[in-house]
Amino acid sequence: MPNVMRNIPPVNDLLDLPPLRSLVERANRSVVVSGVRRFLDNLRVDLANRATDMGVPGAQELAERIAEWIIQEEQLTLRPVINATGVLLHTGLGRAPLAQEALDAMQANASGYASVELDLDTGERSRRIAAVEGLLVDLTGAEAGVVVNNNAAATLLTLTALAADREVVASRGQLIEIGGSFRLPDVMTASGAKLREVGTTNKTRIEDYREAINQDTAALLRVHTSNFVVVGFTAQPTLNELVELGRRRRLPVIDDIGSGAITDYSKYGIEDEPVARDSIRAGADLVLFSGDKLLGGPQCGIVVGKQLLIDKLNSHPLMRALRVDKLTLAALAATLKLHRDTPAAEERIPLLRFLATPVENLRHRAERMAEQIAAARSVATAEPCEDVTFLGGGSVPTQQIPTWCVKITPARGNVDDFSSRLRNGDPPVVGRISREAFMLDLRTVFPSQDMELVGAISPDSAEA
Ligand SMILES: *Cc1c(COP(=O)(O)O)cnc(C)c1O
Repeated sequence: MPNVMRNIPPVNDLLDLPPLRSLVERANRSVVVSGVRRFLDNLRVDLANRATDMGVPGAQELAERIAEWIIQEEQLTLRPVINATGVLLHTGLGRAPLAQEALDAMQANASGYASVELDLDTGERSRRIAAVEGLLVDLTGAEAGVVVNNNAAATLLTLTALAADREVVASRGQLIEIGGSFRLPDVMTASGAKLREVGTTNKTRIEDYREAINQDTAALLRVHTSNFVVVGFTAQPTLNELVELGRRRRLPVIDDIGSGAITDYSKYGIEDEPVARDSIRAGADLVLFSGDKLLGGPQCGIVVGKQLLIDKLNSHPLMRALRVDKLTLAALAATLKLHRDTPAAEERIPLLRFLATPVENLRHRAERMAEQIAAARSVATAEPCEDVTFLGGGSVPTQQIPTWCVKITPARGNVDDFSSRLRNGDPPVVGRISREAFMLDLRTVFPSQDMELVGAISPDSAEA
């Protein structure tokens, strides 16, 4: 055993030193003690492996290092992040930030008991969905609705309840994959429904659907190709054609619209996103969409449509496994309420506020921040820079949203190191790398975060 090991002070001596003593006062003693032991164990292994030229720091310095390490280790892995990627529905960053109204509703219902399944008027047991069903019906014009964990769950539940062991007809041009784990054919397999693919990658006609129908057919499925476009020699039947065919053959038409636009988003530059109300009006029997995409609400999957079919979903045993908790219901209800009034929605729902922010406003902020960031020691140059960004979260990549960024070249090291340092900072900042520069895209940064963002890049100037 190398001699240096003897220089390691006993655990109790270290715990008496100020950095660790104050940590014990602030945190749980057993957490600190076990942290010190683990640190020292690691240190012993390091010393044993590359023993000779590495010493043990003095007790005071050692205690400081251990305290820092424990604070680091105790930090939660799930933490708030400043999203400077510009991608509005970044799945890796939790998609839509919630409106204050949604947070308040969650807080109010989470801190105590809530009328999740109790009708306060009659005192009788009510259905969990009652909290949001009226709002969903109002906003989409549907007869009824259900809410489950996400749109993948909505798809799974719908296919299982309506089509297990039977066939569902879908176009080869719409067999999408969303973010790796959601692949329509796989969800179909998991549901027990049999996928009956028709048409080709680029062209599917209504006759293709018609010819595929047999006694085993349970439904016709249309899926919005949210994250890719097929251009050129292409065709897909319209929803109206599918509905007409479905009516004639007494088959339900399921329309997975994906992002779940509640109104027309083309005024924000987002074209061709199907609107739930339009699908219902066109006669789709069930319409499926996510709660945390264009709706700007909590993660959930929403199905609206015919009462008879919604009843089938509600009474299926899977419903119990996929249903949402009171927090999601509270946040969704508050978000849907805001959507009843477009100006209120634009002002209060962060996603819509980001989308509605005039590009001039972003330019002014980029100019101001670039000046402050340029003064940071870690930065060589920082300039305001016009660019484009995307909705993200399974949205069409050809739809560009105008934006302004602060374009940074680091003073030393490469852009990847700079990016990694910011990601590991406090608060963590995630930007994007474009050619040789690091970009902070302001489209997704709350104006209230601007100073924090500058401080994260130039801790030196923030201290000064
Ligand atoms: C995003 C998306 C899904 C998956 O929704 P999640 O809420 O992420 O489960 C399914 N279908 C379409 C068309 C989508 O765009």
